[in-house]
Amino acid sequence: MKKETRSDVLIIGGGLAGLTQAAVLGRAGVDVTIIDREPPSAHLNAAYDGRTTAISFASHRVLQAAGVWDVMTKDCCPILDIRVADGTAPQFLHFATDEDANGEPFGWIIENRLLRKYLFENLRGIKNVTHLAPVEISGFTNTPASAGVTLKDGRALTAPLLIGADGRHSATRKHLGIGVKEWSYGQAAIVCNVAHDLDHENVALEHFLPAGPFAVLPMTDDENGNHRSSVVWTVEEKDVAKIIKLSPEKFDARLQELFGDQLGSVEAVSRPMSYPLGLMHADSYTGPRTALMAEAAHVIHPIAGQGLNLSMRDIAVLSELVVNHLKLGLDTGTPKLLADYENWRRVDTLLMAGFTDVLNRLFSNNMQSVALARDLGIGIVDKIPTLKGFFARQAMGIGGTAPKIIRGLPL
Ligand SMILES: Cc1cc2nc3c(=O)[nH]c(=O)nc-3n(C[C@H](O)[C@H](O)[C@H](O)COP(=O)(O)OP(=O)(O)OC[C@H]3O[C@@H](n4cnc5c(N)ncnc54)[C@H](O)[C@@H]3O)c2cc1C
Repeated sequence: MKKETRSDVLIIGGGLAGLTQAAVLGRAGVDVTIIDREPPSAHLNAAYDGRTTAISFASHRVLQAAGVWDVMTKDCCPILDIRVADGTAPQFLHFATDEDANGEPFGWIIENRLLRKYLFENLRGIKNVTHLAPVEISGFTNTPASAGVTLKDGRALTAPLLIGADGRHSATRKHLGIGVKEWSYGQAAIVCNVAHDLDHENVALEHFLPAGPFAVLPMTDDENGNHRSSVVWTVEEKDVAKIIKLSPEKFDARLQELFGDQLGSVEAVSRPMSYPLGLMHADSYTGPRTALMAEAAHVIHPIAGQGLNLSMRDIAVLSELVVNHLKLGLDTGTPKLLADYENWRRVDTLLMAGFTDVLNRLFSNNMQSVALARDLGIGIVDKIPTLKGFFARQAMGIGGTAPKIIRGLPL
């Protein structure tokens, strides 16, 4: 007979979202099992993920609730100033923390590799979280009282609530037969870290070029005191291979053209990696005793650096609902809880997906009439404090109806 392990919550997928979800629930006293098909060592390899993440103000509260924020701050670079420019046009949209964010950072930049490392270490210190990786799922199970998986090694894992955090090709979503709306942008993001002569002064820059945005995000200095930034350079998909294959000298020369002389001489200090860009939205975020979250439910364009930040809000909401139910001794896999989760999260996600989609279409475009309209738009937003405040709050993740964790309250 198969050995069955029952938890309060079973999480499929230990990426950035799943690991954070497990930690927030675990720290709140919930019994969690989280599984991944790959070992942590594979995820910590430099070739696994060359990106950085812009963590919003709201997401830092979720990472605080996960118990990981204090140890990771030394590798987080605060963003104190955001400048948005349309190619070479003179209009500049400028957000400064003292004017637009009450002196709080708009967010922080950290390497994904380091964020994963801290999340893995953090999980090891939470006794009521069991992390199984690598394991392979052989099938999904459902009874009136539980959802679960069977593993290739014969074990069975069950819980009243299963959370699918298994990424954009989610097996959990496919098992539930939930369809998606999706399209490709015909673009890819080339990412790498660069060292440069001059201090970035905590400024994040976004230049909208015809092929897509070119973003420069401030990083902490390296151990030798070299100034660093990370680059997210959106190009047409057809151009990716030839850019990635450039010699290091030619790649640096191309970067220098894009940077201009604002940060002095620049040099790539990590291998450039590329990510195809598209939008995906699940038709439903829930099924019997199951909630989909993060990229299992939604994938958006990184133009505003909001993909994982949206997922952090999924985590805050789901954690609040689960903990509230457990405190009252209620079942955590009920249709009511799942409907509350979906209702709370769907509008925010659709708004952000729509916002990033429109922004990308508007700016990755060379038509004269569109260029004029967006330059006017940038000029207008820059002059109207309430509009600027709205955009600043969205970037910080504190617009809309915030769950407890994001308001800084305990669960
Ligand atoms: C260029 C770029 C820049 C970005 N910048 C930002 C940014 O600045 N800010 C921001 O907020 N977001 C950003 N994002 C988005 C962010 O990187 C993603 O949202 C995030 O990495 C996705 O994490 P996830 O945990 O949802 O999914 P994944 O990282 O895909 O994790 C899914 C996990 O599930 C596991 N898994 C899959 N299938 C199975 C299975 N069958 N069994 C067991 N395990 C399974 C996988 O091994 C993996 O560990 C960016 C995205 C891109 C492309």
